[in-house]
Amino acid sequence: MKLLVVGGAGYIGSHTVRQLRAAGHEVAVLDNLSSGHAGALPADVALVRADLLDPEAVKAALNAHQPDAVIHFAALIEVGESMRAPGRYYRNNVTGSLNLLQAIVETRKIPLVFSSTAAVYGTTDAVPIPEDAAMQPESVYGETKLMTERMIHAFHVAHGLPYTVLRYFNVCGASPAGDIGEAHPSQTHLIELACMTALGQREKMMIFGDDYPTPDGTCIRDYVHVQDLADAHVLAVEALHAGQNVATTYNVGLGHGFSVREVLDAVDRVVGTPLTRELAPRRAGDPPRLVADASRIVADLGFSPRFTDLGEIVQTAWNWHKGHPHGFKQ
Ligand code: UDP
Repeated sequence: MKLLVVGGAGYIGSHTVRQLRAAGHEVAVLDNLSSGHAGALPADVALVRADLLDPEAVKAALNAHQPDAVIHFAALIEVGESMRAPGRYYRNNVTGSLNLLQAIVETRKIPLVFSSTAAVYGTTDAVPIPEDAAMQPESVYGETKLMTERMIHAFHVAHGLPYTVLRYFNVCGASPAGDIGEAHPSQTHLIELACMTALGQREKMMIFGDDYPTPDGTCIRDYVHVQDLADAHVLAVEALHAGQNVATTYNVGLGHGFSVREVLDAVDRVVGTPLTRELAPRRAGDPPRLVADASRIVADLGFSPRFTDLGEIVQTAWNWHKGHPHGFKQ
């Protein structure tokens, strides 16, 4: 298959490009490089540097590369920033996605796999969370993803656009080879921050609340390894191309979670020295437990995550950060 991977130079996109090529597919990437890195891509991948807010450039890329399917990762992803700069998030994530959808139906009407997020659910009592749980996003970021999911479905109904939506839980880890990994301009994620702390780039780890209704009082999250998530995209796009499971939404997670303390204990073991920890107040908007019901993707697509051991997940993240303390900048 020939694929156009939009946002393919980012963290999840670049791992997916790699897994797509390993599965024998031909890949071109469209990315504005606002947070992605050309260095995260194999040197021989065609990279179109363009923005989804430029509809003509998007159409030109589809016409030039004639893909059989599109995988769409391109988005701004910081929850806190989305609350401070909603206009930027709606414009970039919703208008950008609309331009892509319009370009697809006008040029080739090929299948689309879309990156969504568990943030569309907001705080929910459902444990684990099934795909049909109520959706009440608590951030502009989550709202932009839900709006895009709904636009995609409308394009399916009106224009026959085949699609799969993947809702990610807590994406983490890095390529086992240690050469690509998470390198965001601002880091907020637990495992990444712990690795930065272990490298001496931060003084200590804050635990945001230990009075939650969980066994050790800290929040529980479903940590899915980026390479397993990349494999989920390969499965999804191959199924769509074969005309299977069209217009389906899948949670992508392990189906079980780890607490903040369990994650920090695993980091201590991998790094070999304990990080300084400090208890801090709860972070606004953090639900106690977010765990995927991933049974649909397991049943429909045969999703079978390889990284289920927390120590192994953390080890891949640590290998990447230790070898690239300043991300792709060196
Ligand atoms: N967390 C923490 N200290 C940090 C960063 C995160 O205690 O320095 C907690 C956070 O409150 C949440 C969990 O770790 O309960 C996962 O947070 P992260 O930002 O990685 O992902 P989220 O679940 O918010 O998408």
